[in-house]
Formats: sequence, C-alpha cells, structure tokens
Amino acid sequence: MFKQLGLIGCGLMGGSFALAMKQAGLVDRVIGYSKSPSTTEKAKQLGVIDQVAESALLAVSGADVVLLAVPVAATESTFKAIRHLVSPGTLFMDVGSTKRDVVDAARRALKDRIGAFVPAHPIAGKELSGVQHADAQLYREQQVILTPLPQTRPELVEKARALWGALGARVRVMTPEAHDAAFAAVSHFPHLLAFAYFTGILQQEEAEEFLRLAGPGFRDFTRIAASDPAMWRDVLIANREEILKQSEFFRGALGVLEQTLRDCEGDALEALVRGVSEARSHWRMGSGRPR
Ligand code: NAP
Repeated sequence: MFKQLGLIGCGLMGGSFALAMKQAGLVDRVIGYSKSPSTTEKAKQLGVIDQVAESALLAVSGADVVLLAVPVAATESTFKAIRHLVSPGTLFMDVGSTKRDVVDAARRALKDRIGAFVPAHPIAGKELSGVQHADAQLYREQQVILTPLPQTRPELVEKARALWGALGARVRVMTPEAHDAAFAAVSHFPHLLAFAYFTGILQQEEAEEFLRLAGPGFRDFTRIAASDPAMWRDVLIANREEILKQSEFFRGALGVLEQTLRDCEGDALEALVRGVSEARSHWRMGSGRPR
C-alpha cells in the first residue's frame, strides 16, 4: 500500500505505528528521525525503522506517508522544518492527544499546504513512553479519531481511514473542537484528577503506610497518575479551557456528595451511588450514554 513511511518522533506511538505497518505488510521501508540520535539508533536496533534520517526534512524526502509522533508542543516547529516537502502526493498525519492546538499550529506553519494534513488521534497508549515500549498491536481494536479541516483533501482522509482500518483500528471523524471537548471529559480531566488525588495522598505524614495498605482498587484508580510528565504538561496546557470546564462539573458532583456525607444522609448517599453504579456497570468501551 505504501512505499516509504517517514517517521518523525521515534517514541512509543510512532514506533508502534511503524511496527504495526510493517507487521501488516503495508510499507516497504521506514525512515525515522527523532530529536536524540540515541533514540533513532535504538529504533533501528529494535527493527522499528530501517534507516536513520539526519533531519525531519530528510525523513519526509521520498515518503508517501509521514507520521508526526512528537509532543504536541513540537508540532509547529516540526511542520515548519518540513513544509517545503508537504504536498498532496503524500499523506501527512499526527497522533497528538489534543487537536485544536495541533490544527492551529499546522495552519500557521503549512499555510496553503494544509490540505495534505489529516490530523489523527489514536485512543491507545501506555503510561510508559519511549521506543523500547513500542508495540505492533497497540492500535488493534482501538479507536482512532480523525479531525480533518475544510481544506483537507478528501482522498487523503479516505487513505488515512483505510490505513488505520488496515491496522485493526476503528476510525471516527469529528471536528477538532468536538474532539477536544470530549477528550477533556474522558481523558484529560481524569489524568488531572489522578495527579491531584495521588498528590493529596503523598502530602500526608502517613502516606507511606497508607500506600503499603492499598489494594487493587487503588492501583486501578491511580494507574494513569504514572503517566509521562512532559507529555501531560503539553496536553493539559493545550486543552486547559475544556479541562477547566470539566473541573466545574466534577466540583459540583463532589460538592453534592460531600454535603450528603456532612448531613449523614445514608439514604440519599445510597441513591446517589446506586445511580452512578448502574450507569457505570452498563457502560462498555465504545458504547455511548449508559441506559
Ligand atoms: P514518546 O514515547 O516520548 O515519543 C515522542 C518522541 O518524539 C521521543 O522519541 C522524542 O524525543 C521525540 N521528539 C520530541 N521532540 C521532537 C522533535 N522536535 N522532533 C523530533 N522528535 C522529537 O511519547 P509518545 O507517547 O509516543 O507521544 C507522542 C505523541 O503521541 C504525543 O503528541 C502524545 O500527545 C500522543 N499520544 C500519546 C499517547 C500515550 O498514551 N502515550 C496516546 C495518544 C496520543 P527523543 O528523540 O529525544 O527520544
């Protein structure tokens, strides 16, 4: 399907994409560029890339598909570095967790070349970053959101859809605004909350003893607090307006629960928990509003 993948950012997400394409027999060759030469060397040793590029522009040269898998804050400088080779003959995608900032950065950097870019966000990942954790199966049976712009060439959107589909992913298309609002609710705010909750535990004198006693519920609830700090700094800052809106909903719900506890209203508390418990037990990944 493709002759050459130009991979910019040879970490967890980019490395997994390269491995998945290779395993599916969708690409002949992968040329990779990353900020640190040690990363590209490691990617080559691991068989994630076939050849190291000395610059982002050289990674793009000769490619018919290009993936930017860099931190979202590096999107604009990366597009500026490659803009001369951005043309509709090649499919350009990213994997950034936020979309409005990525799209704005792409517009500023690419100007009239923006039509070749199909913004993408795979709803898959790990708390562990780096190419050593790349996994050819990462995208299988996961969702990938595409957020094309009015200028995006429709044939490239279809190409992107077919490519992710061939990797086993389920593709959905929405606007960057709708994407950022939804993922503030179901991903970005929960991370902020996990960071805050774990911080609250650590601030207590008895933290060590508490953590020693913690069981599987605590482990599951706090899993995402171990996420990559630099990546989450970028995501939280980029989507702060939507995340702060979610924080208001959360504070409202927490306030009601706190007041019910203060008033020691057992029946009201049980009714609140029952409502949530039923909704959550009916929810399945990929399903919408619980019945
Ligand atoms: P990662 O494992 O840290 O990989 C990012 C790679 O990009 C690193 O190898 C990094 O540095 C390289 N890099 C940084 N700045 C660069 C630049 N200016 N030019 C070229 N390479 C650069 O992180 P990741 O988890 O793959 O995240 C990549 C993107 O995926 C982010 O935009 C994130 O929002 C998105 N995403 C992540 C997840 C997740 O769960 N991890 C899920 C969905 C989306 P070195 O070359 O120094 O190693």
